[in-house]
Amino acid sequence: MKVHNFSAGPGILPKEVLLKASEACINFNNSNLSLLEVSHRGKDVIEVFSNAEHLVKSLLNIGDEYAVIFLQGGASFQFAMVPHNFLNKKAAYVNTGVWASKAIKEAKYYGETLVLASSEADNFTHIPKNYIIPEDVDYFHFTSNNTIYGTQTRDFPNSPVPLFCDMSSDIFSHRFDASKFDLIYAGVQKNMGPAGATMVILKKDLLNKIQRKMPSMLNYQIHVEGESMYNTPPVFAVYVSMLTLDWLKRNGGIEWAENRNRAKADLFYSELDRNSLFKGTVTKEDRSWMNANFIMNDPAKEDAFKKVLKEANISGLNGHRSVGGFRASMYNAMDLDSVQVLVNVMQEFEKTNG
Ligand SMILES: *Cc1c(COP(=O)(O)O)cnc(C)c1O
Repeated sequence: MKVHNFSAGPGILPKEVLLKASEACINFNNSNLSLLEVSHRGKDVIEVFSNAEHLVKSLLNIGDEYAVIFLQGGASFQFAMVPHNFLNKKAAYVNTGVWASKAIKEAKYYGETLVLASSEADNFTHIPKNYIIPEDVDYFHFTSNNTIYGTQTRDFPNSPVPLFCDMSSDIFSHRFDASKFDLIYAGVQKNMGPAGATMVILKKDLLNKIQRKMPSMLNYQIHVEGESMYNTPPVFAVYVSMLTLDWLKRNGGIEWAENRNRAKADLFYSELDRNSLFKGTVTKEDRSWMNANFIMNDPAKEDAFKKVLKEANISGLNGHRSVGGFRASMYNAMDLDSVQVLVNVMQEFEKTNG
């Protein structure tokens, strides 16, 4: 029985990746040892990390001016690690949701934190766009996909200062010019692997800007020099991410993912706009391809709808605990078929409950 997994995070992974990962738990690379019980300094594990790095660079079309490292502490730890390393005087942020707010909160411990624009007063139902990035800040930080609200920026701003982005929930989901960015981070558990690793892609020359004296574990320079192995890294999470990136590359890379993600979003949102029982919660032009938020016009029908979702083997559709309603997360590994099943259920529900 196939369950259609619309979970917002940790999110859906390709079946073949899960099968391979489970095999590696018993017999990693025909060693008759589990990946979970071998040294991270072994040749085969080092190869996993270098494969992951190469796949990231080749998928994003970036070269050796970038380092790719895998750290722990989640994307949330990056909210602090980024300003700890790079906020010397002043930084600029845009507040587009809970995750952006949390990043702003941490930056304030380190220096002046300008919030250039915010959609908080409108419950983050759109992405503010009319702001100017000042030239006298250490960096500009934004969140590309607002996982909780279902808004997304796919056209990235040009920045006169180093451009930093939290891409936790939409990395590798559509084509973009990665060379515009100086630092990108993403918890791998939304679009790449299980929880436990956070990918950081950063321009190596950015490391020259680190001024603060700091403990080693907080220092990007140390982690880059140690090639993600300054301490014991989250090997399994990186292995699964590597398998997912390899799956992505073999299927046609980010262009393939983008076409699929656009098709899924088109299918879902056109039903949402057509169906008289449901409505979206965010401005149409800012709708996310990864997380689609919606509510019912008549909340009294929610329980009945949840029941039919369950009968159709649809899982993970509840909205974030802070916003309620529903949220359909359609990450890279989700097939169009699963979205079609959801759309069919919505149509059927309108016929019987409209
Ligand atoms: C999930 C998420 C986070 C938080 O990730 P953790 O790994 O739980 O710290 C941060 N930013 C975005 C955009 C997210 O989707």
